[in-house]
Amino acid sequence: MKTPSQHVVVLGAGPAGVGAAYQLMKKGVARVTLLEQQERVGGNAGSFLLDGVYCDYGSHRLHPVALPEIMDDLRLLLGKDLLYQTRHGRILLQGRWIHFPLKPLDLFLRLPKPFALRVLADIAKKLLPKPKKSGPETFATVLERGLGRTICEEFYFPYARKLWGIDPEDLAVTTAQKRVSGSSIGKILQKVSKQIPGMKPPGAGKFYYMKRGYGQISQCLCDAAQSLGADVKFGARFTAIETVGGSVKAVRYEQGGTEFVVPATHVWSTIPISILLRGMRPEPPKEVLDAASKVAFRGMILIYLVLDQDQFSTTDAYYFPQESIPISRMSEPKNFSSATQPVGKTVLCAELPSDPGHPDWEMTDEQLGKRLLGWMEQAGLPKPVGVLKVLTRRLRQAYPVYRNGYDQHFECMDKWIGTVDGLLTLGRQGLFAHDNTHHTLEMSYAAVKCLSADGSFDHAKWAEHRKDFETHVVED
Ligand SMILES: Cc1cc2nc3c(=O)[nH]c(=O)nc-3n(C[C@H](O)[C@H](O)[C@H](O)COP(=O)(O)OP(=O)(O)OC[C@H]3O[C@@H](n4cnc5c(N)ncnc54)[C@H](O)[C@@H]3O)c2cc1C
Repeated sequence: MKTPSQHVVVLGAGPAGVGAAYQLMKKGVARVTLLEQQERVGGNAGSFLLDGVYCDYGSHRLHPVALPEIMDDLRLLLGKDLLYQTRHGRILLQGRWIHFPLKPLDLFLRLPKPFALRVLADIAKKLLPKPKKSGPETFATVLERGLGRTICEEFYFPYARKLWGIDPEDLAVTTAQKRVSGSSIGKILQKVSKQIPGMKPPGAGKFYYMKRGYGQISQCLCDAAQSLGADVKFGARFTAIETVGGSVKAVRYEQGGTEFVVPATHVWSTIPISILLRGMRPEPPKEVLDAASKVAFRGMILIYLVLDQDQFSTTDAYYFPQESIPISRMSEPKNFSSATQPVGKTVLCAELPSDPGHPDWEMTDEQLGKRLLGWMEQAGLPKPVGVLKVLTRRLRQAYPVYRNGYDQHFECMDKWIGTVDGLLTLGRQGLFAHDNTHHTLEMSYAAVKCLSADGSFDHAKWAEHRKDFETHVVED
């Protein structure tokens, strides 16, 4: 077979990067070099082994709404390792543990009656005519109008403060549109009704998972790309993109203390858009670099406890919306795959939203482990039998923060990137999109459909795909 004349350098080996590499190789339209700064595949959606337990970077599940063509590839590549599982989550609401996703009977029986009455009063108020509100819309105004004060004050506002580290009034409307699938009472009731037997749509309360952890999605795509000839370099940190006359010419990266240069006809970047822009040579205009300095990602500390017991509970993930407990979620990885191995040991993984510079970020594993045990006690969870080990991991870019006005900064960066011939930004970090794995895979599959073997890229088709991506709503 003829060697393709085009050479795509893909930045980042998260799902978007490996998905693009695999599809490009499969279609045979380009040679591929994939650069990943870490020594492992998967990005935020990767996995690692901890005392024999496959662990993810926080609770991850593949939602059954993934596109059929993506599911077909994963079924083929993962074979029997692709599992179809039932969700067993619990959320701490008003001091009580309630099934999550919410179930009507459980909600009715377990929610404190005064709380339920206040929610009903909010719904009744919504039926009354209201004076038009002036002032700009934010996450807070949209949710309060859709859900009423009680649900917002008891649930979404404290959760938002904890997750993004800023006040709900400072969060843009996009956060409500993209991040909160139940942004009105009607939508919540619709979601809850989907859990009623007989009204359940296919896939409700179910998810896909992998025998060797969530990272097996990225691993299998990366292996397949490599077996088709993609050159994957780990420990290879992108440093710069050289352009000549507005077209991409080469990529510089650092590996093991040495800088390398690789020629490229195209660069597809899935790394944070702000980092990409800072590496452009010649430099972008000042206003573009300014915009890059104004968008921020929220970080996260993952605290893993290795326990001296076979299973902590049958719950796969516990959700903590209240601000008084700083973790947002805690999962038991073995339960995601119904793993029976290793015998006599399990792991808990807690998600603590935080940022570099915050005192939590600097704490030792032992300090964070101790704090986690305190929060578990506060939430009324059983005391683990014995903690054999504490380990922490830190994600610098867990969630894009949609602060009011972020969209203008993003647009400024995105517009300029669109002027560089051969350069594409995609994926969760690249499009500053709070998206699930199936969404980011969709982006990479779509990008490959826009590239022809002669190197031409169908920008009109890509623009249509970008419009579709804007309709993505995150599944929890
Ligand atoms: C706590 C948490 C829970 C989540 N739960 C779910 C879930 O249940 N279901 C779901 O579908 N999604 C979930 N997600 C989202 C999921 O993790 C993302 O959709 C997915 O990781 C996005 O893939 P990506 O390839 O776009 O980006 P990333 O996974 O972020 O990959 C980007 C890659 O770029 C690399 N990189 C960065 N800078 C450089 C550089 N200079 N040089 C080279 N490489 C670089 C990074 O190391 C990384 O590997 C969750 C996310 C978080 C944080």
